[in-house]
Amino acid sequence: MLLVTGGAGYIGSHVALELRRLGRDVVIFDDLSRGHRDLAGDSVLEVGDLKDISRVREVFARYTFDGVLHFAAKSLVGESMAEPLDYYRNNLVGTTNLLAVMKEHGVGRLVFSSTAAVYGEPETVPIVENAPKKPTNVYGDTKWFIETMLQNLNRAYGLRSVSLRYFNAAGADPGGSVGEDHTPETHLIPIALDVALGKREKLMLYGSDYPTPDGTCVRDYVHVSDLAQAHVLALERLEVGKAECEAYNLGNGKGFSVLEVLEAVRRITGCPIPVESAARRAGDPAVLVASSGLAENVLGWKQEFADIDVIVKTAWEWHKARA
Ligand code: UDP
Repeated sequence: MLLVTGGAGYIGSHVALELRRLGRDVVIFDDLSRGHRDLAGDSVLEVGDLKDISRVREVFARYTFDGVLHFAAKSLVGESMAEPLDYYRNNLVGTTNLLAVMKEHGVGRLVFSSTAAVYGEPETVPIVENAPKKPTNVYGDTKWFIETMLQNLNRAYGLRSVSLRYFNAAGADPGGSVGEDHTPETHLIPIALDVALGKREKLMLYGSDYPTPDGTCVRDYVHVSDLAQAHVLALERLEVGKAECEAYNLGNGKGFSVLEVLEAVRRITGCPIPVESAARRAGDPAVLVASSGLAENVLGWKQEFADIDVIVKTAWEWHKARA
């Protein structure tokens, strides 16, 4: 049995789906604050908040877990800058409780949902795993703190973990069962698709004076189903006892500016997508592009949906169906 915290959210639901497709038994633990009951699909859903340790203990007493995949966290850069205490409490207290209860029950395998935000403003791109960790926002700060905790817990108690540092997760399951549905929505592609659907009038372009070729931020968009595959590979690596405490970048290796993404959205939807220039968003680095060579070489990760048009198209299919 596997526990997927945050499995009713965007990335967690794709991972839980992939695990179910592989015949694994999955229990989802989610407080449904940002997740959706229907995204849990056929998995058992335990509604609860990781900050409530007695509730976590109750769930661990009910099932025997072989491993945990931990996604439950607040994950919005802008919100983390405005509400830092909320982020520290939610992400750090929640994770500490989870790790404590895993220890109580002798559950020694964890796949942790980390982020490119641990690097902050990178000195060189593409970013490799041992690049300096200097988060420029509170969200990234909480994730890096947890990665450091995992190193210390490995030394002290032998907890084995793989942290996966995603760049910009995008797209949706090509089968259409799960996809991205945030309230409030803050991410570029779903907002652009809302404009295409007529649900919003225009997209606010956060900063056009970055030191990039067209002045807008460059990001590395990686398909969420490819991310899901990497989690399965990470879990398998833990299950055969190969990993002690490891971290891998997961990205496309190719950067797209905000304007290039909007061009892809126009191509796929056939809609004009009006844009209005706005100030930079606090905490946004100019360029984030991954080197995913380590995940490819060590985990054997291969992307299936690396094309930006395919990423936008799967997101568009989901978005239209969900509207
Ligand atoms: N962005 C934008 N307008 C929006 C949403 C996002 O210009 O309405 C920009 C944002 O500043 C960033 C990029 O699009 O440079 C990707 O942002 P997103 O929130 O999707 O992901 P993040 O990089 O924060 O994880």
